Amino acid sequence: MAVNEIMLPAQSVRVAGEYDVVVCGGGPAGVGAAIAAGRLGRRVLLIEMQSRLGGLMAAVPYFCDSPGGPIFDELIERLLELDAAHLRVDRERFHPPGRYAIGPHAAAAILLEMVRGAGVELLLGTVAESAWLDDGAAAGVLVVNKAGRSLVRARVVIDCTADADIAASAGTPFRQGDPDDGRIQHGNFRWSVKGIDSDSLPSADRLEALCREAVAGGAIRMPDAVYGFDPACFPFRHGSLVLGGWELLHVDPTDPVQTTEALVQCQLAGLQILRFLRERVAGCAECRMESPGTFAPRESRRIEGLYTVTGADVLAGAKFEDGVAPAWFYTDLHDPPPGPAHTWDYILANQPPPGDWYEIPYRCLVPVEPPGLLVAGRCISAERLAHGSLRIMPTCIFLGQAAGTAAARAVEAGVRPHELDGAALKAELLADWRPPVYPSTDA
Ligand SMILES: Cc1cc2nc3c(=O)[nH]c(=O)nc-3n(C[C@H](O)[C@H](O)[C@H](O)COP(=O)(O)OP(=O)(O)OC[C@H]3O[C@@H](n4cnc5c(N)ncnc54)[C@H](O)[C@@H]3O)c2cc1C
Repeated sequence: MAVNEIMLPAQSVRVAGEYDVVVCGGGPAGVGAAIAAGRLGRRVLLIEMQSRLGGLMAAVPYFCDSPGGPIFDELIERLLELDAAHLRVDRERFHPPGRYAIGPHAAAAILLEMVRGAGVELLLGTVAESAWLDDGAAAGVLVVNKAGRSLVRARVVIDCTADADIAASAGTPFRQGDPDDGRIQHGNFRWSVKGIDSDSLPSADRLEALCREAVAGGAIRMPDAVYGFDPACFPFRHGSLVLGGWELLHVDPTDPVQTTEALVQCQLAGLQILRFLRERVAGCAECRMESPGTFAPRESRRIEGLYTVTGADVLAGAKFEDGVAPAWFYTDLHDPPPGPAHTWDYILANQPPPGDWYEIPYRCLVPVEPPGLLVAGRCISAERLAHGSLRIMPTCIFLGQAAGTAAARAVEAGVRPHELDGAALKAELLADWRPPVYPSTDA
C-alpha cells in the first residue's frame, strides 16, 4: 500500500433498493437507456448527480446531424410542439435531417416527463460512486447523496457517466487520449456576456489596444489552459472580443484538481473581463455576465469492450451483425496542431460515403470485464477517431436506447448482457429504422 493511503475500517452500508436495471448518469445516453428499459417493463433506477437531466445538452444546446433513433425522434417531436427546437437545413453541409438548436430547459423537463412516463425511478443530486461486485460480476452501485452512502442492487448496471466512472471502478480496462502522445481533445469553457451595444463598440484596432493595456497592467490574466489566443491581448482574437466560450487544452475531466484549477482561472478571468468591459470599453457600460461558466469536456475514458469501433469502420460505412446504432457524423476531433483543421475537405474525407452510414456494434457497449455491466454514450469502446464521430448527442441517445433494451432483454431471459444475441437485438432496435431525410420545406 502506498504511504499516502490508509485502510478504512470495514463498514456496513444501507441497501437503498433493488432494481432490474440501474443507470448511472442522466445525460443523452442515460435517459435513452432508462426510458428504453423502463418501457420494456423493467424496474429501473436512474441516478444523476446534478439537479436536472440532459447532461451536456444544457451547455451545448444543439443536436448534430446524425440519425438518433426512436427515443431521439420522440424528444424532437415534443420539443417541436413547444417551439423549443429549430431545424437548420444545409443540404450541402449537413446530413439529413439537418441540425437542431434546442431549448435546453424545455428539453430537461421533457426528458423528466419521458423518464417518469416510462415508470423509471429517479435519484437526482446523487453521485454513483463505484460498482459493487458480487462474485466478480457487477451487481449494484454504491451511491452518495445527502442521505449518506448506500448501495443499490441491480441485475444489470449501465454506465452512462460519460467518463466511464463505474466501469473504471469495476476494473474495466480503458484508454484515454491519443495513443501516440496522450493528448485529449479541447474541452470548452462556456460562458456569456449580455447587454453589449455592438454599434457603440470601438474599432477592432482600438479593442485590441485596450486588451493589451489591460493584460499588461494586470487587470486581465489569461487562464493557463485557454488555447488559441495571444495571451498579450486576451480575450481579443481574429478582430473581435471572444466572450462566448474558450477552448481549453490538456484539461482531463477525470482529474478533479486540474479541472478545478481551469474552472477557477476561467471564472476569475470572466470577472476581470466583465469589469474591464464595463469600465473601459464603449458600449459595454451596462453589460452583465449571463452565466458563471461551465466546463464541457469532449473526451474522457473510452472502455475496452468486446469490439472497438475504428476510424476505418466510420469511413467505410461498416455494417455489423450486431450493429445497433447507425451514425454518419464526421470524425470531429478538436485537437491542437498537428490535429485536423476543420476544413470542408477534411469533413468530406472523414465521414461515411455519401448517403451511407456506419453501424456501432452492440459489443462496443459490453466491457471485456466484469459481467453484468454495460456502457453507453461517449465512453464506449471506440478508437479515438471513431469517438470523434459517435460522441454527438443523437448517437449517444441511440446508444443508450440500445443498452437499455439489451439490459431489459437480458433480465427477461435470465442471462448476462454479454450472452445476448446481438443480431436479435439489432433486429429489434432497427425494425422500424429508416435513415432520416431532409424536410420537404427547408428551414
Ligand atoms: C464543447 C462541446 C460541444 C459539443 N457540441 C455538440 C453539438 O453541437 N451537437 C451534439 O450533438 N453534440 C455536441 N457535443 C457532444 C455531446 O455534447 C456529448 O458528447 C454528449 O453529451 C455525450 O453524452 P453522454 O450521455 O455520454 O454524456 P453527458 O452528456 O456528459 O452526460 C453524462 C451525465 O452523467 C452525469 N454523471 C457523470 N458522472 C456521474 C456519476 N458518477 N454519478 C451520477 N451522475 C453522473 C452527468 O452529470 C451528466 O448529466 C459537444 C460536446 C462539447 C464538449
